[in-house]
Amino acid sequence: MPEGTSTRYATSMPNIASNRAGVIGHPLAHSVSPVLQQKAFDSHGLPVRYLAWETTAAQLAERMAELRRPEVLGANVTVPHKQAVMSFLAHVDQEARFVGAVNTIAKPDGSENLVGFNTDVPGFLRALREDGGFEPRARTALLLGAGGAGLAVAYALAKEGIRLLYVANRQPARTEGLARALTSVVPGFRPQSIAWSAAALVPLLPTCDLIVNATTLGMRHGPGEGESPLAGLDIPTDCTVFDLVYNPLETPLLRQARERGARAVGGLSMLVYQGAESFRIWTGLAAPVEAMMEAAHAALSGRGSDDA
Ligand code: NAP
Repeated sequence: MPEGTSTRYATSMPNIASNRAGVIGHPLAHSVSPVLQQKAFDSHGLPVRYLAWETTAAQLAERMAELRRPEVLGANVTVPHKQAVMSFLAHVDQEARFVGAVNTIAKPDGSENLVGFNTDVPGFLRALREDGGFEPRARTALLLGAGGAGLAVAYALAKEGIRLLYVANRQPARTEGLARALTSVVPGFRPQSIAWSAAALVPLLPTCDLIVNATTLGMRHGPGEGESPLAGLDIPTDCTVFDLVYNPLETPLLRQARERGARAVGGLSMLVYQGAESFRIWTGLAAPVEAMMEAAHAALSGRGSDDA
């Protein structure tokens, strides 16, 4: 695979013949992406239909071949194909390479060349700033979780100049992997690995300006449903708590933060902003985030979805 770039592509919408986009994944019954993206295309009056493209692993090669057709504008990618699609792409953007996962595929030069992006990094930063009112530069943060979303958050915070980043993950090997990867892309930056234990977290919490949950704890229908990663621990009142989990809208961690008087930011805005960034990459247009937010909110309140 050729080296990726960090260029933020913007295709020009008016001259395209493409009228199809969609999300690739399996299962997709709970995906919010069709609601979000169709709202964006409709709001701009663009004649694009955004579909749920159910794709098993065995069907992935065929699906990727279909993406090369001129009528396809681009795609989102969700579980379980975020890594597997990379081998079908002509280029992978720098952030997607670091995170090791692609959630957006576009054809920036209008040809059949597919380019992969990960929009969780800009989506997280926009939500942190616009909804959390939080500027990461020179601050101290605790990141809980070192999976795919944890990598995106760590990269985002490091590149925006966080002073000190603690990372705790249930499986310690993953925090070490994250630290190594981060140091290689953000020279001079090294996060501190912390044990996944109350004893390790208690003395750190009062020093944190920001706490981010990038684990699946608290997620509806998941094995950690109803759980907070900081259960029984004191969250500082002057801290911002960002939970990437967006279903339920109010997670146990967010409730705990609000009860302590801390600022609490749920994952829905990040979900919308990462979708808005996909839309911008495909069309070059600003996405109607307020309309998308309302649509996502209604979809989640109505049917309890838990997958982008
Ligand atoms: P992932 O790669 O599968 O990572 C899962 C993470 O959760 C790992 O750190 C894992 O720890 C941890 N975990 C799972 N069960 C746990 C438990 N019982 N106790 C402690 N830690 C546990 O998943 P992901 O893609 O990073 O997603 C993580 C969460 O972020 C999901 O809820 C996802 O919906 C959410 N997310 C939201 C957005 C958004 O736009 N709002 C975007 C991306 C992801 P181990 O490594 O020890 O297993």
